[in-house]
Amino acid sequence: MNSDPRTWHAHAKINLALHVTGKRPDGYHLIESLAVFTRFGDRVEIELADSDGFSVSGKYAPAVPLDGGNLAVKARDTLRQEAGLQHAPPVVIRLEKNLPVASGVGGGSSDAAAVLRGLVQSWGLDIGENELARIGLSLGADVPMCLAAKPLIASGVGEELSVVPNFPALGLVLVNPGTAVSTADVFNALEKRDNEGLPPLPRGFDFHSVRNWLEITRNDLEPAARAIQPAIGKALSVLNRAGAGFARMSGSGATCFGLFETGNVAKRAAVDIRSRQPDWFVAATRSIASEADAHGQD
Ligand code: ATP
Repeated sequence: MNSDPRTWHAHAKINLALHVTGKRPDGYHLIESLAVFTRFGDRVEIELADSDGFSVSGKYAPAVPLDGGNLAVKARDTLRQEAGLQHAPPVVIRLEKNLPVASGVGGGSSDAAAVLRGLVQSWGLDIGENELARIGLSLGADVPMCLAAKPLIASGVGEELSVVPNFPALGLVLVNPGTAVSTADVFNALEKRDNEGLPPLPRGFDFHSVRNWLEITRNDLEPAARAIQPAIGKALSVLNRAGAGFARMSGSGATCFGLFETGNVAKRAAVDIRSRQPDWFVAATRSIASEADAHGQD
């Protein structure tokens, strides 16, 4: 029983700001983060088939598991289990892995979110957003925000979401100097965990107000990540030299983002950076605005 394959976007998650505000007794860190999601990302193709299958293509395919350890496969298995759907039709999942792995842009979480969304449609499930977010959270703290895929403030361990209305699409360049960074190592290396939360958001959003607000925020993981992986500092300098209005590390690194006034300026900067650092991951992209359709399948 084969169906037409459908493709779902798995967006990169960019933490524009990330404050670490505490640590729970179970070891999870409390955060407050303004996150956006980019047009650039992985792609997940889902097709009803005679038996389950999974394959990975794309530049970063060699860096991810090909078995049940892949978050895309875990998402399928967990949805079957949690929704009591052991007999849901088999599906073939084809993942195009364009995002660097263990790089602070939530690629695995976003793949899981895309599979959940795709399967809800392919299997014709009647599952509410809250229930889907609950299933997503069992796969990882960042999966619920990747399901939302809109500008939002994430708090708690990242699962308490408040969508930010009227947030514009931003021109971004993502740069990774080719080094994976372990999220656990970065959190373990933190010297201070009880930092203050995010300041109030500006009243209106344009490039300048967003940049000014970013100037008074931080990524509390950046100093620890830079100490572990000094190439992060180089990536930030390269973005600044290419004309970014603002540059910062996302998540636990090592991917850094530069903020540019328009998508075209971002594209030109990316060409410039690629010519200087041909071995790095460099992508010019735009973030998804609050009012845009985040889930559009191809
Ligand atoms: P975060 O920003 O949430 O910390 P990240 O971008 O740093 O995420 P991921 O790219 O999601 O990290 O990878 C984290 C780990 O998950 C890697 O060690 C990787 O082997 C494993 N993994 C399993 N499935 C995937 C997948 N589909 N894509 C990426 N990594 C995956």
